[in-house]
Amino acid sequence: MPRNGWFSRRSRTARVMESVPDGIATKCVKCNEILFARDFERNLKVCPKCGHHHRLNARERLAITVDEGSFVAMDEGLTSLDPLGFPEYAEKFQRACANTGQTEAILTGTAAIESHPCVIGVADFSFMGGSMGSVVGERIARAMETGLERRLPVVMFTASGGARMQEGLLALMQMAKTAAAAGKLDRAGVPYIVVLTDPTTGGVYASYACLGDIILAEPGAIVGFAGRRVANQDMGTRLPDNFQTSEFQAEHGMVDRIIPRKEIRPALANLLSFFAEGNGHAI
Ligand SMILES: [Zn+2]
Repeated sequence: MPRNGWFSRRSRTARVMESVPDGIATKCVKCNEILFARDFERNLKVCPKCGHHHRLNARERLAITVDEGSFVAMDEGLTSLDPLGFPEYAEKFQRACANTGQTEAILTGTAAIESHPCVIGVADFSFMGGSMGSVVGERIARAMETGLERRLPVVMFTASGGARMQEGLLALMQMAKTAAAAGKLDRAGVPYIVVLTDPTTGGVYASYACLGDIILAEPGAIVGFAGRRVANQDMGTRLPDNFQTSEFQAEHGMVDRIIPRKEIRPALANLLSFFAEGNGHAI
C-alpha cells in the first residue's frame, strides 16, 4: 500500500507512462506532469505546467536560436588527446562522441540571428557534463579570436559542470586561456554576450561564463562556482532556497537579465542590432 501522497502520485505517473507508446509522452522532471512529446517539443522543452526549462543539447539550442542554415562550424577537427593517461578517459570520450554525434562538449562557429551575423558557441552538457578540457578551451578561444578578427559580436551559451578532471592542470589552464581571450574582446570593443543555461558551474562559471559584457540567464538554471552541498559545508550556515540559481545571481548583480527560453532569440537579435547600429563601440 502506498504510504503517502508522493508515493501514490509517482506510481500513477509511472503507470500512465507505461500505458502510452514510446515517444508519444514525456514527463516533466520537476513537477512530474505527463506531457505530449509533440507539445513539449513545440514549447521548446519548457514544461507548460510549472515552467521548468529542461536541458537542450547543442544542436537543439542552435536550431531554436540561429537562422536556419546559417551556422558554419569551426574547428570540428580539433579533438582531445589523453595527456595524463587517465583511467577510462578514452572510453568515456568515445562513448560521448557516439552518443551525441559530436567531437567535443562545445560547438563553435559563425551564424546569423534574425539576419545579424555573430560568432556563436554552444556548450553541450550531454557530452561528458559539458566539461572544459583543452579542446573546449581552444575552441572557445579561437571563436573569440574570430570575433576579434572579423569584428563580429560573440555569443556563448554555457552549460558545464566545470573543468574536465581527466585532463588535470591542462583543463584548469583553459580558464586562463578563455578569460584572456574575453579580455582581448573587451579591449577591442567587440561585444561579448553570455547566456547561462542549466547548469553552469565550477571552472567554467569562474572563467569565460561570467566575463560577458552582457550576461543573460534562463530561469531556474543552476549557476555558481561550488555546488550547494560543498558551499553548505564550507560556510556552515543555512543557505537561501534559491542559492546558486539564475534568480539568486540576478539578485546579487551577477546576471543582467533572466529571459525565458522563447524570448532569447529575439533578445539576442535586439542586442546584435543595437551593437550593429554603432551605438556601442566600433562594431
Ligand atoms: Zn513541470
